[in-house]
Amino acid sequence: MPFTIVQGDITQQHVDAIVNAANHSLLGGGGVDGAIHRAAGPELLAECRTLGGCDTGQAKLTRGYRLPATYVIHTVGPIWRDGRHRERELLTACYRNSLHVAQEQGCTTVAFPLISAGVYGYPKDQALQAAVETVEDFLRTHNLAVTLVLFDREAWVMAREQYGTYVADLR
Ligand code: ADP
Repeated sequence: MPFTIVQGDITQQHVDAIVNAANHSLLGGGGVDGAIHRAAGPELLAECRTLGGCDTGQAKLTRGYRLPATYVIHTVGPIWRDGRHRERELLTACYRNSLHVAQEQGCTTVAFPLISAGVYGYPKDQALQAAVETVEDFLRTHNLAVTLVLFDREAWVMAREQYGTYVADLR
């Protein structure tokens, strides 16, 4: 199944599940988390309150409420320190565990943001590499359509240069 990289807003994606780059509490934050909660409505926060938080690298599922996506998979990316604190391993776990949750739920289309590449400070080129390699690896043995939704121009330009075969230029 295909892997596509697009520029856009993940809250607008018509897919079975979007992935949220959340924090440990799952009780809302800024960045993509804030955007997803605003678009989904207060019912999302109410369901998140029942989940008891989430560890770094793990993933938990909720409904999508007012989003076009049916589900939201909340994962917690690693905070970048210096690259020697298991950041890559934990970021890979975010993608893999989210994909497993999606598959278990019967989803066939999933969209990701570039996890950890905002407030959590993961260098964008390395965050992109981790995302692409982990999704590629998963799709070798699983049947899902995955979209990586890049919000900022810097990541988008990088993706076009380095992973052009996956890029869908919609403009
Ligand atoms: P983290 O704390 O994991 O770094 P952020 O939300 O700060 O999470 O950023 C993660 C990524 O999500 C960044 O690359 C940021 O540009 C991107 N982002 C922010 N808003 C959106 C959105 N509406 N759709 C898709 N990606 C978004």
